[in-house]
Amino acid sequence: MGEPIGRVVVIEDEQPVRDAILAALRAERFTATGFEDLPRPADVLALAPDLAILDVLLPSGNGFALARLLRERRELPIIFLTARDAVADRVAGLELGADDYLVKPFALEELMARVRAVLRRRGAIPQVLEVERVLVDEEHGFAARAGRELALTSTELRLLAFLMRHRGQALSKDQLLTQVWGYDAYDHNLVEVHISALRRKLETNGPRLIHTVRGIGYRFSP
Ligand code: CA
Repeated sequence: MGEPIGRVVVIEDEQPVRDAILAALRAERFTATGFEDLPRPADVLALAPDLAILDVLLPSGNGFALARLLRERRELPIIFLTARDAVADRVAGLELGADDYLVKPFALEELMARVRAVLRRRGAIPQVLEVERVLVDEEHGFAARAGRELALTSTELRLLAFLMRHRGQALSKDQLLTQVWGYDAYDHNLVEVHISALRRKLETNGPRLIHTVRGIGYRFSP
């Protein structure tokens, strides 16, 4: 699996959300540490994180207060998670110099895309994915196979990137729904429709790469 590519701290009191985020981060070789309530700033900084994912509403206080304390000590990119799409929250976040925020419920893959974007800016992650002459540049929404552009929708692009990042692994339809669409999505048909569209576009320019794994789902492999 290679070396960890970055350290991320996750501060989120809802356990299922926290566990899902930690699992997604670890699956992509990030070193991830979770806190269920406001930690002391020193405990966060002791982990030397590259990025913090910080819930705004925590049992013992406000995530923005912690962000302010952290930022007094060092520059740290933060992605805020907020349950409310409140303008006041956005402004408070942005005044702190936050890199980003996400409104719950969000798709895990959306969060992961933002994590990658933040760390890519810091030079920690390669710019494009490339496997078997399939190239995906998520930041610019561009995909190609064997040098020819694939006209993918944004969902198809995210789905393809996710399959490529987990190449060789059998991924269930539930897993794809959770990661690409959102943790409350349940319609397998959504996955099937997008997989067949993606195959159609990919296979005009080479052999099958997205294989059906009977009883499970799909696997990206040559
Ligand atoms: Ca919360």
